[in-house]
This record gives sequence, C-alpha cells and structure tokens, in this order.
Amino acid sequence: MKARVHPLLILSLVILLSCGARARAQEKPNPDDDAQKLVAALLGETPLLTDLQFLTDVIGGRPTGSQANLRSVNWGLKRFLEAGVEVTREEFEMPGRWVEKSARAEVQGDATFSARIAAMPFSSGTTLDGLEGMLIDGGSGSALDFNNLGARCKNAFVLIETPELTDFDGLFREYTEGALIEKRAFAQGAMGVVYMGSRPNNVLYRHNASLGIKNKHPLMIMERDAASRALRLLRTDRDLNLHVVLDIESGGPYSSYNVIGEIKGRDRPEEIVVIGAHLDSWGLGTGALDNGCNVAMVIDIARQMKKHGIQPRRTIRFALFNGEEQGFYGSWGYVKLHADELDRHVMASSYDIGSGRINGFFLNGPAGLAGFLEKAVLPVQGLGPFTNIDAPIVGTDNYDFMMEGIVNLVANQEPANYGPNYHARSDTYDKVDLVQLRLNAAIAAAVTYAFADERIIRWKRQSRVNLEKLIQGTDLEEQMRTFGVWEDWVAKKRGRKD
Ligand SMILES: [Zn+2]
Repeated sequence: MKARVHPLLILSLVILLSCGARARAQEKPNPDDDAQKLVAALLGETPLLTDLQFLTDVIGGRPTGSQANLRSVNWGLKRFLEAGVEVTREEFEMPGRWVEKSARAEVQGDATFSARIAAMPFSSGTTLDGLEGMLIDGGSGSALDFNNLGARCKNAFVLIETPELTDFDGLFREYTEGALIEKRAFAQGAMGVVYMGSRPNNVLYRHNASLGIKNKHPLMIMERDAASRALRLLRTDRDLNLHVVLDIESGGPYSSYNVIGEIKGRDRPEEIVVIGAHLDSWGLGTGALDNGCNVAMVIDIARQMKKHGIQPRRTIRFALFNGEEQGFYGSWGYVKLHADELDRHVMASSYDIGSGRINGFFLNGPAGLAGFLEKAVLPVQGLGPFTNIDAPIVGTDNYDFMMEGIVNLVANQEPANYGPNYHARSDTYDKVDLVQLRLNAAIAAAVTYAFADERIIRWKRQSRVNLEKLIQGTDLEEQMRTFGVWEDWVAKKRGRKD
C-alpha cells in the first residue's frame, strides 16, 4: 500500500523551509548543506509509514522472547540491507523467558462474573486448572490499607483500586506505587496482587512487576469495570473469590538480538554517534507508539542518508535495541559488546515517547552540551520551539550509556496520546500521528547529523566518581530503584566500574 502525503505535511514543509531560509539569511551561511538536504528528504515521501504499518499491523506485538520478535529482527535487518546500509545482528543474553499465552479470570462467590485480565510481565503462571483464593479489598494499597488488612492478606488476592489514567503524568506514579504495593502485599503473605485497570474503556495493558524476573507471585491487571464491580461488592460486605488461569511461557536465559545499522564516518570513522529506538514491545497491542514509530524513523534516517550520499565525519550507528521493555537488556548488551569502543562514543540518543512533537531533549553530559544542542536544531528551528532539560533520566535505552559515562540524550516529546495507550491493547498504528512522525524524523536527523559532523568536540566519558556525584545531586537513585537497576549499579554489575 502506498502512503499518501497529508496536506498538512506539505504545509509544514513550506513553513519549515521558509523558516530555515530566514535563519540562513540572518545568520552566517550554514556550511552543512547536507543537514538541510537530509531534513528535506525526510519530509518528502519515504517508506516511513509503510514500514511502520508492516511492523505493527503485519508483525504485530513483539515481546522479546516471542516468535514475532524474531520476525521483527529479521525485518529490521532486511530494511537496512534494502537501503544499502551496513547492518549487523548483535546477540545478547536475556535473563529469562516470559511470554503470556493466555490469561483469564472469574470472580465467584456472592456474585459470579468473568473479568478480562492481563498478566503483568514476570507474573508467575498457574496450572491449567488455575488458582483460587479470596479476593479482598486492598484500597489504594497504602501502608495504612495494608495495616488494616493485617492477617486477612494471607493467601488472598488483594485488589488495588487505581485512579483513572488519562495523561502521561500518571505513568510514573503507576511504577513507583506498584513497587511499594507489591512489597507490602507479599510481606503480609498475599497470594497475588490484582490491579484495577487504570485505563478508560476497559483497555488492558501491562508493565513490569516491580521485582522483574525475581518476582514469584501472580500479578495482574483487571479490566476497570469488572474490578470496580468487585470492589463495590466487597465494600457492601459480599464475599468473593478469584479464580485465575495464567498460561505463561517461562524459562531460563536465552539469546536475543539487537539490529545495528551503520554508516561509517568519512573522516573520523572510529568516533561513534548512536541513534536508537527499541524494536520490542509488549504483546497486547502492536507497539506502534511504543516504539514502532521511532524504529521506523531510525531506519528512515539511515535510508535517506544513504540514498542522498550523506556521510558525516563520524560513524553513525542506527540501533534497534531489543529487550527494552523487560529491563533495557539490549542496550546493556550493546555497551558490554562494545566495551572497547565506549571511550570513542561521542553521544547516544534514544527516541521512545511515541509520536508527539519533539520539543527538546533530556540531556546528560558536560557543560557545553546544551549550547551545542541549541545549534544542532538550527536546520529545523521552524519545527520548534525546543527547550532542553539538563537532567539524567531512567526509563529507556539511554540508561546504560549514561551509567557508562557517555553523553546521552532522550528526546522529550509532547505527551499527546502516549499515556492512555501506553503498553495497552490500544497501542496500534491508528494512534500514531503520522504527520508529526515525519517532522520528528527531520528533527532527530538534524541532531544526529550535527553530533556526527561536528569538528571539535572531544567530550570525555564520565568516571564512576563523577557518576556518583550525579546520583547525589539529582533524583537518579530514586529513578534507578523504581526501574530495579539500582542494586546492579551498587554491586558494579552494571555501569562504569572505575
Ligand atoms: Zn518504549
């Protein structure tokens, strides 16, 4: 199917080019005609949208460890090859397999009804006969709620009420509170935790159990309406049981793969700039906002560079990381595999917040970084304004680069519809803002090109001592704890050792 060009896109292109021209007239002539050429190419008709449609509608949800994920790896390799871009499949180890095959639940007792559920990643499974226990009202899962429950928790499923999530801000809260709730529940002997789905319209979703692969209990999300019915019953003194059948494919460590495209630098090929997005998704939807759109974008930038013979001074690696959702394992694998080259990594960037407008970057690096970034977006300033935030951020594939002391960026994007569809069944192709995605491709390309072609920067990697200072001066430790990566840093299993 051929992608149509949206009229708004043409309009945007006109605005962009006129702003770019104005910028050139006012300031010194831009020597980087290649950057302009690249930006214009990405705003034209490219296979960006057909790629995204194939990855999402045809291949579909692709949790790491699934057949669909392997298919997406092969697809990524093929798309780079077809674009004439050198590409490698790089192996790394996943700590254990977890794929949900099916999940169902029935509420029984004073009322009987089925409730759609999704197992949370790394939930334990059940036998095919399932598991049954009392269903009890866990309130919002606060310390006080659990205090009041006391011994009633023992061997029961604790149902946790959640506020409805309609925007981006609620996501981080879900992560932080989940960790505390699970800790309290299992300290009091609960059999499992059932979260009331926070998404409107009964949409199911999943994100990691707080303990990740170390979790040993059933954990699930129950569709909002069924969970709220159960809570009303429990709050009017009815007794309920929950019967769940979680058919989970689980197993030990296995190999997964990153797909790494590369355009060698013409002048300083040993110096490397990384632009990355993750290939894997959770399996309920088709991983369009998270993160198919940015995968298609990364491929398209490589393709247009190759097509137009654009070769900056430094090498660019176009990384489709895998295993991100389960704990950033692919990017961790990358820094381990390329340990000898890390001193020569100039910058690593991640794109992972859907298709809302890129309005700047979270940046982590030396003092000159913010100023450099302001210049980097000049070829696309008509798509601004851009505001950068100087703060380390945990939550995607920049993490291991950051903790290896490498300058790293995460595109900050307008939340748009990312929150409600996050890890949800509703994360499908139709949710992607196809016009904005092209504009984002132009922005990402300009930034990547600027770092790759710049003449003078010689930024050094941060030492462990400096990273410790960064942790002390920011909320980094809290973020690392939330994402379950703190202990490995302390134990020097992950991140810079000296
Ligand atoms: Zn993501």
